[in-house]
Amino acid sequence: MKRNSKIPIWHPFTQHALQDEMTRIDRGDGAYLFTADGRRMIDAISSWWVVTHGHCHPHIVRAIQEQAAKLNQIIFAGYTHDPAEEVAQELLKRVPRGLDHVFFSDSGSASVEVALKMALGYWHNIGKQRIRIVVMQRSYHGDTIGSMSVGARGVFNAAYGPLLFDVISIPFPARGHEQTTLDALESACRHEMPAAFIVEPLILGAGGMLMYPPWVLKEMKVICEASDVLFIADEVMTGWGRTGTLFACEQADVTPDIACYSKGITGGALPLAVTLCRSDIFDAHYSRDRTRTFFHSSSYTANPVACAAAKANLDLWQDQKYRDRVASVATMQEQAIAAFRVDKRFANVRRTGTITALDLKTSDAGYLADIGPKLGAFFESRNLLLRPLGNTIYVMPPYCVTAADLDEIYAGIRDAADALA
Ligand SMILES: *Cc1c(COP(=O)(O)O)cnc(C)c1O
Repeated sequence: MKRNSKIPIWHPFTQHALQDEMTRIDRGDGAYLFTADGRRMIDAISSWWVVTHGHCHPHIVRAIQEQAAKLNQIIFAGYTHDPAEEVAQELLKRVPRGLDHVFFSDSGSASVEVALKMALGYWHNIGKQRIRIVVMQRSYHGDTIGSMSVGARGVFNAAYGPLLFDVISIPFPARGHEQTTLDALESACRHEMPAAFIVEPLILGAGGMLMYPPWVLKEMKVICEASDVLFIADEVMTGWGRTGTLFACEQADVTPDIACYSKGITGGALPLAVTLCRSDIFDAHYSRDRTRTFFHSSSYTANPVACAAAKANLDLWQDQKYRDRVASVATMQEQAIAAFRVDKRFANVRRTGTITALDLKTSDAGYLADIGPKLGAFFESRNLLLRPLGNTIYVMPPYCVTAADLDEIYAGIRDAADALA
C-alpha cells in the first residue's frame, strides 16, 4: 500500500495506514492529560499502566530535578550511587520476605529477560541440565525475543515465530477449571524437569485482563516447589498497588524465587525495572571463577535519575494516605461496575483490586476486531483515555482518580455500548 503522507515517527502497536493522526498531549496533572488543542482528558489506563500517583506528582518531580542536577548517569559495573542503594534497601523491606538481591534494568521486557537468564544461569552454574520454561497460555511478558517466547503466540509475533524458543504451556485457570491448570503444571514439573515457571500473578494484563484467585497462585507455587522448579513472578503490571496490595504475590502469601517489577516503580515518571531473586540464585553466580559472572547489562542500568524517581515513589508508599487511596479506588471501582454486572450487553464483569474489566458482547470479538479501534475513537471523542483490548474494556486509573472522574469514565462506557453494541 502506498502512503500519501509523511510519517517520520513510527509509533508502537499502531497501524499507521488506519490511524494517521496522533493525539498531541502537552501536559499531565494528576489523573488528567491536556491536549494541544485545549481538551482535558481523563487518563483511565494510567498511560499504559505506569502512572500510579498521578502525572507529575510534585514529590517525584522534585526528586528528579534534584538528582538530574547532581549526577545523571554513571556506569553501574564497578560503581554505585546513593539513589540505587536507597531503592534497593527500601525495596527489600517491602517485597515478599526471601527476595534478597536486586538487579536493575530499564524496562519490563528487560526485567523478564534478566529473570530468564538468572534462572538458566542458576541451573547451569550448579551443573544441572534444566533449560525449559513453563508458561501460562494468554500471558504477556514483553516484546523482545525472549519475553515474546514466554508469552502468548498469535498475530503479534507470527512473523518472528522462527526466532522464538519452545516453551511448555499450561492453560489459563478459568473459573471452574482451576484444577486442569494445576494438573497441567504438576505434570510439566514432574515429567519435563523445567528450569522455571513464569507467570503474571492474579491478572493476565495484555492477554485480556483475565483474573484468577490467590489460592491458585499459591497452589502453583507449591507445585513448583515440590519439583524444584524456579517460580518467576512477572509483577511488571500487577505491582505497586494495582491488585489492592503493594504486590500481587502478597495476597497468596507467595515468595517467588525471582520477581520482576517495573511500570509503576517510578510512579510512572521514568523508565526503570528491577529483577529480584533469592540468595541461592545469586550464590550460584558468586564465585572467584569469572565464567560464573552474571553476564547482563544495559547502558542505563540503575540510572541515577530514574532511581531517584523510584526512591521518591517508595517514599510515597511509606505514607498511609497513599496506601489508603488504593483501598478507596478499589471500593469506588466496585461501586462503579455494580450496574454493569446486570447489564446484558456486557459479559465477565470483573475486578481485582483497582482494576476493572468488562467484555462488550459483540459478534466482532478478538484483539484485531474493528470494535477495539471504534471504541477507542468513541472514548477519545469523550475525552477519555481508554484503550480496549478488542472488545474488553478495562479501567486502570491512577490512584488520585476521583469518584466524579470514575462516573465520567463509566458514563462513557455505557454510552459506547449504546452507540456501538
Ligand atoms: C508491560 C509488561 C511487560 C513489558 O514491560 P515493558 O516496560 O513494556 O517492556 C512485561 N510483563 C508484563 C506483565 C507487562 O504488563
